[in-house]
Amino acid sequence: MRSKVLLIGIDGATWEILKPMMDEGRIPNIKRLYNEGASGILTSTIPPLTPVAFASFHTGVNPGKHGITDFQLHYKEMGMSGIIDSTFLKYKTFSEIANDQGKTVISINIPLTYPTPKLNGVVIGDFLAPRVYPGLVHPTEIYHSLIKKADYKILGISLKQKPHLSTDEVIRNYIDVESVRYSIAKKLMNQYDWDLFLIHNQLLDSVQHGFFHFLDKRSSHYSDEKYNIVAKYYESMDKEIGNLLENIDANTTVVLFSDHGFKLIKKNVHINSFLRKRGYFAMGKKKRLLPIGKIVRFIQGIDSKGLRYKMFDLLGIDLKVRRELVSKFKSSNDNNEKSQAFMRDGAYFGNIYLNRKLGDSENVGKHLIEALSELKDPVTGDKIVAKSYISKDIFSGPYLDEMPYLFLEPAGDYAFATGDNLDELITDIDYEKCNSGGHALEGIVVVWGKNVRSIENIRCHILNIAPTVLAVLGIAVPAYMDGKALEEPFYEKPIARTNSSMDGFNKTLRDTEGDRNYTSDDKDVIKERLKDLGYL
Ligand SMILES: [Zn+2]
Repeated sequence: MRSKVLLIGIDGATWEILKPMMDEGRIPNIKRLYNEGASGILTSTIPPLTPVAFASFHTGVNPGKHGITDFQLHYKEMGMSGIIDSTFLKYKTFSEIANDQGKTVISINIPLTYPTPKLNGVVIGDFLAPRVYPGLVHPTEIYHSLIKKADYKILGISLKQKPHLSTDEVIRNYIDVESVRYSIAKKLMNQYDWDLFLIHNQLLDSVQHGFFHFLDKRSSHYSDEKYNIVAKYYESMDKEIGNLLENIDANTTVVLFSDHGFKLIKKNVHINSFLRKRGYFAMGKKKRLLPIGKIVRFIQGIDSKGLRYKMFDLLGIDLKVRRELVSKFKSSNDNNEKSQAFMRDGAYFGNIYLNRKLGDSENVGKHLIEALSELKDPVTGDKIVAKSYISKDIFSGPYLDEMPYLFLEPAGDYAFATGDNLDELITDIDYEKCNSGGHALEGIVVVWGKNVRSIENIRCHILNIAPTVLAVLGIAVPAYMDGKALEEPFYEKPIARTNSSMDGFNKTLRDTEGDRNYTSDDKDVIKERLKDLGYL
């Protein structure tokens, strides 16, 4: 019998939230998978950020090999800079490897699938695509026959709207957006004779960023009323998953997973402010600005692009110049080149780059690790850094030299932030305006099917997913992959053959492929979206 795999991603899901919801009877389909299948914690990448985790998910290689550690890359020497998308993947994905072996693949909303790979099947791109248009979908006929009339959306209401809308309105919007996605999934599931089917609930990430203070009973903002409202998203997600499960046959292995975990955050720790006090981070000399310069900088600091436009318009600035000015946010990144050490937009987890041109960077690195391990909250005396990870100790591959020297895992309720705050080490997070949920290392995984044992506490790293899917589909696993196929969940272990002849890293892979079609406005849209989720 032909073996099939259905992968369902629920972005950022954690057992801390799912287990109580299972006990409360809110998510019966996930509970059934959990009871009947093999479940456990999925350990994410360091840092546990969606594009990093999904780059490892797709390719089965560690960040030292795929190079992705952030939503934006600055690796000029390696020819990779800008906002991450699928063209940054320089290894084949397991979906492409399956496709090469004649399998039919349906992939919906999976991070890093835009520009869409031209698979035998259907690919609907992800939240790093600029907008819903024919180029979001492969083949484009599917855009015209299914997507266009369905009012398909990539994401829902911006979290910036939180202060102006009720939680209920935001949650209902997210449920509507996902329900359109799942209705298309069901149609595709029945129209195609697929081997591999992937779908992703990206909006769970938004729900948890925006409303974790209503989900975590330890939060002082928690109330049963608010919890019930936010839980509706989980209930609806569970129902959609249940519908999909009704449409699969007995030879399908289901993998329910999250790309990372989540936790309540209460305080932002501004690492560049710490580095500045220690003399590692240089502030550029304050230039004397003409009044017009000051006004321009002030306007550039405004969050709303529309408002920035309007204000430049009022100043009587020419349209072309206005465009330039509007798209430039003022940023502390300007200081990076002059600094020995700095953090770059690595939201929630910390990253520290060392400037090799300025002094003995190895020594700076050593001093920093020591100072950071002793860093305490001046108010509570609590430790701030749970653990420091040196890239060259945990990764291997061609990108090591361009990556951050160090990654920081925040302890307790802390999150690491960049932004313009260079004066204060710690600031309280205002949940009205900012996110209350941050990323954590421990996600979830459940494997389910007739060949899967009912066991708990299986051990899984996100690097195990690609080889496991290939093994279940009966395809040899490339030798360069860093993870192994899981064996623990299965009665009859899938025979994991190794393919030693397959090429790994390919710098030119996808360079000419894809119909990425960004205008400068599109880039702003994506940046705004990432800012909204606290990633930039
Ligand atoms: Zn994620």
